[in-house]
Amino acid sequence: MKTTSEIRSDFIEFFRSKGHTIVPSAPLVPANDPTLLFTNSGMVQFKNVFLGSEKPGYVRAADVQRCLRAGGKHNDLDQVGYTARHHTFFEMLGNWSFGDYFKKEAIAWAWELLTQVWKLPAERLLVTVYHTDDEAFDIWHRDIGLPVDRIIRIGDNKGAPFASDNFWQMADTGPCGPCTEIFYDHGAHIAGGPPGSPDEDGDRFIEIWNNVFMQFDRQPDGTLLPLPAPCVDTGMGLERMAAVLQGVHGNYEIDIFQRLIAEAARLTSRSDLDNKSLRVIADHIRACSFLIVDGVLPSNEGRGYVLRRIIRRAIRHIWKLDGLKPDGTFWKMVGTLVEVMGDAYPELADKRELVERALRAEEAAFAQTLDAGMQRLEGYLQRNGGRIDGEQLFQLHDTYGCPPDLIADIVRERDSAELEPSAMEDYERLMTEQKDRARAAGKFGNATTLPAELAAQLPATDFLGYDKLVEGGLEVLA
Ligand code: ATP
Ligand code: MG
Ligand code: MG
Ligand code: MG
Repeated sequence: MKTTSEIRSDFIEFFRSKGHTIVPSAPLVPANDPTLLFTNSGMVQFKNVFLGSEKPGYVRAADVQRCLRAGGKHNDLDQVGYTARHHTFFEMLGNWSFGDYFKKEAIAWAWELLTQVWKLPAERLLVTVYHTDDEAFDIWHRDIGLPVDRIIRIGDNKGAPFASDNFWQMADTGPCGPCTEIFYDHGAHIAGGPPGSPDEDGDRFIEIWNNVFMQFDRQPDGTLLPLPAPCVDTGMGLERMAAVLQGVHGNYEIDIFQRLIAEAARLTSRSDLDNKSLRVIADHIRACSFLIVDGVLPSNEGRGYVLRRIIRRAIRHIWKLDGLKPDGTFWKMVGTLVEVMGDAYPELADKRELVERALRAEEAAFAQTLDAGMQRLEGYLQRNGGRIDGEQLFQLHDTYGCPPDLIADIVRERDSAELEPSAMEDYERLMTEQKDRARAAGKFGNATTLPAELAAQLPATDFLGYDKLVEGGLEVLA
């Protein structure tokens, strides 16, 4: 059986042998784009290369990019624990052509890696192409020999042509183009239809690799001009590929996750290893640890607030499984994470202590109010016949530090409970009103943590000053 580490290096070695320069992963906090919350795909660090304002010293590159989809345009947080294939944090393997090779080579190499190096049975694979991309269709059919019934054209059947899944664009204008996605059929015993079918959201056919062909420059009036130098941008989910190669269906069954889940089970004294909460905890420890490694700390704003919400969600799941322990539980997962991912990411081992301290402090802070918050939630649910409104969401957040998506997560677990349709909207309004009042009273929302840039510069063993920062965080929660 191939380990996830071996698959990671197989990919890199394969593309190295095809003349690609190996580029390190960029951090989760994008260096070149203040408008983007997190690095959500491999292309983020190459954005300016596609736009032509930056020229790297190579035309072919390959990398393993750490990604987070837990906020902003791409948000898979609500999928975690519910699908076999979604994480908040995941690793995206990618190969890139900057005006060098194009569709023919990209498709041929993808096929070679999958069917010759990794020896996947061809009959388990199927692909989608953009509905008008005859070129890609023909390469799959004529060069590769894939039968036409396993090349699915995806186009405007889901609405506007360019809102569809198989046309990729970075923004409303700029580089864009069609893509071809490769799916693996996990077998008829699993519910779900092929891509483009009404039940495509099931988990039988799982998308493993997206190959984007950037060939147009979209103008403000919507017209598509051909790019002088077409590019290739691909993304393969490492965990999904590991599931395929390890002969399991879901990402949570792969080696890395089995270790993390076993540790979460041990720490919460559970033996039901397929428990959804254990999966959530295993997913969230990766997202939270890598965010802290990349310079984010829990706070009430921006990136830090996303981190805070993910940590609190994880802690709520721990609470649900086993109650809260005085010395915390979530932060104790870091050691196992370092064991399973520290080789590939030495920075994780280097900053282990910072990560543990930050998680521990947040856990201690939240533990003070979580129990009371949960009791209050039960009271609301009984009083309202299982419905939670915006005012209640606001109270739960304001008084007990329970973010609204955490409450939504609980409500979703119960058949008898739901959010009022306007709850989130009303909550946002109440939050804005509260901020306005604070501003009018001259109380500026204090930055609850050290600026991320400073935290990132903290030497791993030097935590002078970090305690102060943690106290600052506690103050806001009190
Ligand atoms: P899906 O349709 O399954 O949500 P996607 O089309 O959103 O996937 P892309 O944006 O094309 O995914 O990203 C490229 C690859 O990254 C995917 O083919 C998949 O292998 C992987 N991937 C995407 N989102 C996730 C996630 N949340 N967790 C794990 N892997 C992911
Ligand atoms: Mg998706
Ligand atoms: Mg998709
Ligand atoms: Mg895709």
